[in-house]
Amino acid sequence: MRAYVPEYDLVTPANLNEALALLANEPGKWRPIAGGTDLMVLFEAGKLPWKRLFSIWHLHELRGINVSAEHVTMGALTTYTDVRDNTVLRDEFPLLGEAASWTGGIATQNRGTLGGNIVNASPAADTPPALLVYEAEVQLISSSGARWLPYTEFHTGYKQMQMRNDELLAGIRLVRTGRSWRHYSRKVGTRKAQAISKVCMAALADSEETRIAFGSVAPIPLRCRRTEAMLSGQRTTPALIAAARKTLESEIAPIADIRSTRDYRMLVAQNLLEEFLRGPAA
Ligand SMILES: Cc1cc2nc3c(=O)[nH]c(=O)nc-3n(C[C@H](O)[C@H](O)[C@H](O)COP(=O)(O)OP(=O)(O)OC[C@H]3O[C@@H](n4cnc5c(N)ncnc54)[C@H](O)[C@@H]3O)c2cc1C
Repeated sequence: MRAYVPEYDLVTPANLNEALALLANEPGKWRPIAGGTDLMVLFEAGKLPWKRLFSIWHLHELRGINVSAEHVTMGALTTYTDVRDNTVLRDEFPLLGEAASWTGGIATQNRGTLGGNIVNASPAADTPPALLVYEAEVQLISSSGARWLPYTEFHTGYKQMQMRNDELLAGIRLVRTGRSWRHYSRKVGTRKAQAISKVCMAALADSEETRIAFGSVAPIPLRCRRTEAMLSGQRTTPALIAAARKTLESEIAPIADIRSTRDYRMLVAQNLLEEFLRGPAA
């Protein structure tokens, strides 16, 4: 059932400082709304728990993609369309653009933001595996200052994250390593578009290192460190693939839910890992 509109309050702070002051003065009382593509679904279903919302959509401080010699830094309000349109991201971080291209349809890509995808913290979200293998850092900002955090440490449990209730996610930063990675990503869903992932995977490999992350196989988007450790620097053989499938099985914990079963997710995750390993040599 649709939410009862008069129960909700929506304000538009004039600037970032005003937005942060709202959070600082009444921590936990106010919730930011960016593109609204997650929040409005909850609202329409009558399940939006936060009654006091403030829009951050117009805050230019949280928008834009900045490229320096060392980093690509994206404002939290970077949309999927922004990601897909950026040539540096396309050339150096292609897995992020692929994940953006899987997300919803064009309307959702124009409106949905990376910050919203991260803070909504769905284990099935599509950009987190790419951000995990690229070892992104996230910037959190409050009226008392800003801090950077490795994205690998951000999610701490189902819908739990290292973000205080007086903080906003301000940006996401990727290091331009210049490494010649082999990139791999796949999303398995009910359809090619407009489907939430049953399993999604992102991976990188070069001759020294392998990085692997999955969505939808654990309470949080997951870097698979044990599987990575046994694969890094190794030549791919049938025995290694079999061993990697077993290690992955012990490392992930998919569940059965409305979209899939535990066993299907486990098998698909192992098959994607094998497909990645059988790909062209790094
Ligand atoms: C039709 C449809 C299809 C979709 N398909 C996909 C899909 O294929 N894959 C996928 O991963 N997702 C999908 N989504 C989900 C959604 O589009 C994404 O999660 C999107 O990135 C959310 O961004 P937003 O700006 O719209 O977030 P909002 O709805 O505005 O916010 C989401 C959450 O993040 C918080 N938040 C937002 N920005 C910040 C910030 N800067 N700092 C702190 N907190 C913040 C909000 O308070 C809220 O809790 C789909 C949604 C729809 C409606």
